[in-house]
Amino acid sequence: MCGIVAYLGDKQAYPILIKGLHRLEYRGYDSSGIAIINGNLNLYKRKGKVEELEKFVKGKDVSGTIGIAHTRWATHGEPNDENAHPHFSQNKELSIIHNGIIENYNSLKEELITRGHVFNSDTDTEVLIHLIEDVQENENLDLAESVRVALNQVVGAYAIVVISKNDNNTLIAAKKGSPLVIGSGDGEFLIASDATPIVEYTRKVVYLEDEEMAILERGKEIVLKSISNIKHTPYFQELTMNLDVLEKGGYEHFMLKEIFEQPHSIRESMRGRLRLGQGIISLGGITEYKQKLMNAKRIIMIACGTSWHAGLVGEYLFEELTRIPVEVEYASEFRYRKPVINEDDVVIAISQSGETADTLAAIKMAKEKGATILGICNVVGSSIPRETHAGSYTHAGPEIGVASTKAFTSQVTLLTMMALMIAHDKGTITNSRHQQIINALNDIPEQIEDVLKTTDAITKDIAAKFKDSRNFLYLGRGYNFPVALEGALKLKEISYIHAEGYPAAEMKHGPIALIDEEMPVVVIAPKKGNYDKVVSNIQEVKARKGKIIALVSKGDTEVRAVADYVIEIPDVEEMLVPLVATIPLQLLSYYIAVMRNCNVDQPRNLAKSVTVE
Ligand code: GLU
Repeated sequence: MCGIVAYLGDKQAYPILIKGLHRLEYRGYDSSGIAIINGNLNLYKRKGKVEELEKFVKGKDVSGTIGIAHTRWATHGEPNDENAHPHFSQNKELSIIHNGIIENYNSLKEELITRGHVFNSDTDTEVLIHLIEDVQENENLDLAESVRVALNQVVGAYAIVVISKNDNNTLIAAKKGSPLVIGSGDGEFLIASDATPIVEYTRKVVYLEDEEMAILERGKEIVLKSISNIKHTPYFQELTMNLDVLEKGGYEHFMLKEIFEQPHSIRESMRGRLRLGQGIISLGGITEYKQKLMNAKRIIMIACGTSWHAGLVGEYLFEELTRIPVEVEYASEFRYRKPVINEDDVVIAISQSGETADTLAAIKMAKEKGATILGICNVVGSSIPRETHAGSYTHAGPEIGVASTKAFTSQVTLLTMMALMIAHDKGTITNSRHQQIINALNDIPEQIEDVLKTTDAITKDIAAKFKDSRNFLYLGRGYNFPVALEGALKLKEISYIHAEGYPAAEMKHGPIALIDEEMPVVVIAPKKGNYDKVVSNIQEVKARKGKIIALVSKGDTEVRAVADYVIEIPDVEEMLVPLVATIPLQLLSYYIAVMRNCNVDQPRNLAKSVTVE
């Protein structure tokens, strides 16, 4: 997510910082900015590409040997010049760049306002630098101590670098949740979100740990300490990777990186919203419309592609938990047929980019008919969030691979939280059941970590066996029917193998005619609700010599006895199975596509953001 670069040394900081920002562009961003100390603290920032920033600073003073720079991927406040980083403190003597989310920024902000602070942006970040200044002034501490004390008041995730106009010898960095790496060169320090802006200058690096901070002073050794004030010894590593691999965090493709990021991206989606201790889910973005949603006569989910599959999971979730009837519509169909839309309908529009043309048009139509429109999008400040009455961001971070992976699981996570929140308030589930599902949802990121570890090798083996197949069938029932659709879509998108997803029981009504010894059939068969029926469906495939690749619960023996290949997934709540079952299917598609030499990150004919109808 987004990018940080900072420099302290003998050289002019500006060219190094700008080059570093370009190196971080692949991470996705919406605005950029830079602050350099040279007597003054000169700060420049611009919405849009780094080139816009470069144009903007032409002819302005960018001299100095210490500075910070940032590419922002908005989470709080739309992408514009004011919200771009760096941010100033109240007296404009301190400046900060930040990646992540300060969850308790609102209460901190209110407190600071009562103490006379005035804010110029909508960001959570600006609150943090005001807090640091407030601590510095009230407690009379040096900069590093003020940062440390302030961070102890912060709930959330951060990678930050702070500088002070009055001290052109010091950079203070800290991290929790978001990555930060420090390069130690000859008389110079570099800090960045990953090593790509650093490798050119030094290969000697230290990766900061969570809740660790670094004090970098000109001509001195690195000082590391925890935010609870315990000194750490820096552990230097030698970078050996080349730039291309570094950009992808060591992965061969963005898609693989994003698949492996899912424990993190799902945690981000839940951060500050799923409050385990209090047993509540709070989705700030839709609070005002919660009553509308609770009283809705009907919910209509509109989406396209992978988001439509998330919507289908949402249908099962909402109907089971809230007892509100749900329809899931392709936006392109919905907008052109003559749908019945009433004022007590709530439309939930789902889109990763927030720019999907058909979804946007469908929203406008439903809005004219008086329905309440909520959005679930990943890109902050995009068109759909602006067009809807309210909504929640998935906070999955930028998705670069064209075939969606982490955005899907974050959409499903958000729909689960929404349905749980409404069910709880409506009283359609008991408190204990509500708490039970919340606990289970909270465990999902860890379980996905496990799935990634245990299914990587087996999916690679299966991919090698079936990479030359011409067709694939994916079957699932209940919550896993949408998973089957998504598995098939992923394979089509990146490997160009024809694949169909079907409700397992529907197979008899047609697709069974396709089955012979050449046909791989992927069946999602966890030991849940329809297990016995799915086992019968597997037998039907076997009887026609189809090859079964089954996703089963850990320890399953019944399906293992008939399947050609089994992939084990953890035994989770039935409604949460899509979150874990999707992962090995993503890996399977990925490895097949790689083995077929396909362009995984940019499959032919596809675009990341579909802005045409
Ligand atoms: N939450 C901060 C903002 O919205 C930081 C976003 C980022 O990580 O770029 O400005």
